[in-house]
Amino acid sequence: MKGFHNPYDDLAPGGSWVKCNFHAHAGTGPGTCGGNPTPSVVAAYKAAGYGALCISNHDLSTDTSAYADGICMIPGVEYSADPHMLTIGVSESLHALPHQEAIRRTRAAGGFAVLCHPNWIRKEYWPWEKLDGLEGFVGLEVINMLIYRLQGSGLAADTWDHVLSRGRLVYGFGNDDFHLWQDLGRSFTSLWSASPTWEGIRMSVRRGAFVASTGPLLEYLRVEDGRIRVKARMPIETYVDSFRYRFIGRGGEVLAEAAGPEAVYRLTGEEMYVRVEAMAENGSLLFCQPVCRTGLFDRGDWEN
Ligand SMILES: [Zn+2]
Ligand SMILES: [Zn+2]
Repeated sequence: MKGFHNPYDDLAPGGSWVKCNFHAHAGTGPGTCGGNPTPSVVAAYKAAGYGALCISNHDLSTDTSAYADGICMIPGVEYSADPHMLTIGVSESLHALPHQEAIRRTRAAGGFAVLCHPNWIRKEYWPWEKLDGLEGFVGLEVINMLIYRLQGSGLAADTWDHVLSRGRLVYGFGNDDFHLWQDLGRSFTSLWSASPTWEGIRMSVRRGAFVASTGPLLEYLRVEDGRIRVKARMPIETYVDSFRYRFIGRGGEVLAEAAGPEAVYRLTGEEMYVRVEAMAENGSLLFCQPVCRTGLFDRGDWEN
């Protein structure tokens, strides 16, 4: 539909969905939380069907290039001066710098920054006032399942809607924040990429051609004839084909709900953005990136 931008339009031809985790701790050293051996962690993610993984230790760059066999190993660090954020695509820790400068340096290196677990410990672990003053992060962890064995909330749809409602296009990521084996594969990012390479992944992140999930995958999300048409699917072969869909707009308002194999939302044309969540029969969740009304959003200058 004219007037709205759908991040799932024009997906890279010949591409495929790549399961990614941008947030994991492994290896030895001060930043790794007494972690599991890196080769074992990488092997476990490969076995779980992941095409890309970042070992993002706390304030420590870990060279994982030796493990990039059948899986794309992305360099990155969890910047762990409070509040935490992922600096993906950089091979140095930027924690000695202020958040804004670390984001700028990450982008200058061709990478991207993602705000971590925005409601860890308490609501607004990432204070909205602080992130309102920060520029250039590409997104935030809308779901980080690790938090459900720590404190606070692993969901951050409230923070996401806050940022979107201010006219800033940022994306929702799903990450494990892997520390222990029980953390593996609980929340992930599924990304449409022309190739399972850093360059392909980076381009997909830039375009928002991905979903965050605790289980379901995206079959399609189309905007046509003034309607959003969306269908989720389970990651396994199954007869189960029904999901509960929610269409969410400015301020987190639920614009419509539907259940079935597919859901359709008729745009009024007045929506600032509409993002779709789908819940499977077992309660697992899919978060799609927002369909945004053109001209209302600032996404920053991605090139530097
Ligand atoms: Zn953290
Ligand atoms: Zn972490």
